[in-house]
Amino acid sequence: MRLSRMLVKTYKESPKDAEVISHQLMARASMIKKSASGVYTYLPMGYRVLKKIENIVREEMNRAGAQEILMPIIQPAELWQESGRWATMGPELMRIKDRHERDFALQPTSEEVVTDIIRNEISSYKQLPLNVYQIQTKFRDERRPRFGLMRGREFVMKDAYSFHTTDESLEEEYQNMKNAYIRIFDRLGLNYRAVAADAGNIGGSTTEEFHVLASSGEDDIFYCNKCNYAANSEKAISDVKFDKSEENEKELTLVDTPNVSSIEEVSAFLNVSMDKTIKCMVYKSIFEGETTYYVALIRGDYEINEVKLKNISGAVMDLEFIDDTEFAKLGFVKGFCGTHGVTDEKFVIIADESIKNLTNAVVGANIVDKHYINANPARDLTITKYADIRMVKTGEKCSCCDGTLEVARGIEVGHIFQLGQKYAKSLNATFLDQNGKQQFMTMGCYGIGVSRVSAAAIEQNNDENGMIWPRAIAPFEIVVIPANIKDEKQNEIAENLYKAFLNDGYDTIIDDRNERIGFKFKDADLIGYPIKVVVGKGIEEGKVEVKVRKTNESFEVEIDKVQEFIKELLGKL
Ligand code: ATP
Ligand code: MG
Repeated sequence: MRLSRMLVKTYKESPKDAEVISHQLMARASMIKKSASGVYTYLPMGYRVLKKIENIVREEMNRAGAQEILMPIIQPAELWQESGRWATMGPELMRIKDRHERDFALQPTSEEVVTDIIRNEISSYKQLPLNVYQIQTKFRDERRPRFGLMRGREFVMKDAYSFHTTDESLEEEYQNMKNAYIRIFDRLGLNYRAVAADAGNIGGSTTEEFHVLASSGEDDIFYCNKCNYAANSEKAISDVKFDKSEENEKELTLVDTPNVSSIEEVSAFLNVSMDKTIKCMVYKSIFEGETTYYVALIRGDYEINEVKLKNISGAVMDLEFIDDTEFAKLGFVKGFCGTHGVTDEKFVIIADESIKNLTNAVVGANIVDKHYINANPARDLTITKYADIRMVKTGEKCSCCDGTLEVARGIEVGHIFQLGQKYAKSLNATFLDQNGKQQFMTMGCYGIGVSRVSAAAIEQNNDENGMIWPRAIAPFEIVVIPANIKDEKQNEIAENLYKAFLNDGYDTIIDDRNERIGFKFKDADLIGYPIKVVVGKGIEEGKVEVKVRKTNESFEVEIDKVQEFIKELLGKL
């Protein structure tokens, strides 16, 4: 490729809405162009990266025995109603109507369509197991599309679906897919980790996410410093003993706490440590017009884990905070909230294990400007059930060994699920077993955020000058730069090297633009080609300069040895 002919322009400034480095750099290098919020065009430089990621994913999926298909983006609402997700996915599911007023969904994933295909095509145990996948555009009307390709509303995902006769067969394929993912992320050249995760609205039980570790990640990953336990904060557990103290239970007493409502303020005002206070939060979840209220109680020094809370509560839809008016209507007092004397059974009151053994604690009295002291949960508070609904903290003991938990930021790039029979049952996907008996299939699903991977790779590999692509997914592996385009000799050698590298099978671009050398260097660093070959004055001594983007190393290499040299160098990248 000749840079002079390519649809690419570089910018010094990044767009105002670009908060993270990958978005800034991709925009500055014309890899992507915004069309609408969370919707982008990939220009040639960006599309090359996307295609390289896709190819690695495709090769490894094929190698693992999965078969590629392509499902429609526009999917009939009836299938989504059958599975129930037409209702449960809420506004994130993009919907359209055709000219006959028929409803359709734009696929956010494709469990429904693939299950429909399989239930019609497969009838016998002899045809299973089976794994099909697609690399296709997905749509999700995200609440906050942001960070460029990291959280788009239209994005590219590889989604695979496996169908089985038994749980054992599913577990085997899940492991097979996990191994394929490890090969994929190794080949992509990323620093990543597989972590235990929550299943979200896709359903199922056993599930792991693959995270690229980077400070801009939206997820907190807790991992053990000793064993290989790692989990998304949504799911992370720790081994903390909440023992009962020796203290005697005192009498519950109402005290004045004027304008003192946050846990920090209460603890300072009453001079008690935060671990002797109880925080109380009220949530609601609305499903098919019905609202259920959930009240959560937790020790003041912990945060509520809303994903754990949702799972324990059995709520179908995500939990939402309630506003001040609704708060008041329910008989709760914001800032002074507690469950002493609450008798209304419409509230599901879930208390974290951290408060179970608290003695003489402080809790809101449900009266403006008042708290109770000496509250003892079993005696004084209304509680439906106890559960683990807390966010773990760093430094807590690992639940698998005697190590401690540490935290890192991660970008979720892949997700594998053992779905079980959720979709097979709702969509009636069955097969005849050896005895001619009809049984439900068991399913797995496996996603990779192909477009998100390109952004995640940059988040992990960049410096003040620009991107530093892992070789496998760089838009080009080598850039050849004639220092002075007007120098015939330099040009000729540069052209010859360019052709030689192409012949050697390297993805090569020549910067044949009539620009200053400094400008070309800046662009090359911004775009982040792994290797730069500069043809300049050195040719008088028969030499060119070879520079490595990642390490900043620079070598003077004899022209007739440069092909050999590059071969060795690229082998190490
Ligand atoms: P997240 O928690 O980041 O919203 P998710 O759990 O909704 O992701 P999955 O349903 O597991 O995502 O989708 C599979 C993969 O698709 C994810 O691991 C992620 O890499 C990618 N992905 C999901 N949502 C987006 C998005 N809005 N933009 C880009 N990639 C996405
Ligand atoms: Mg997920």
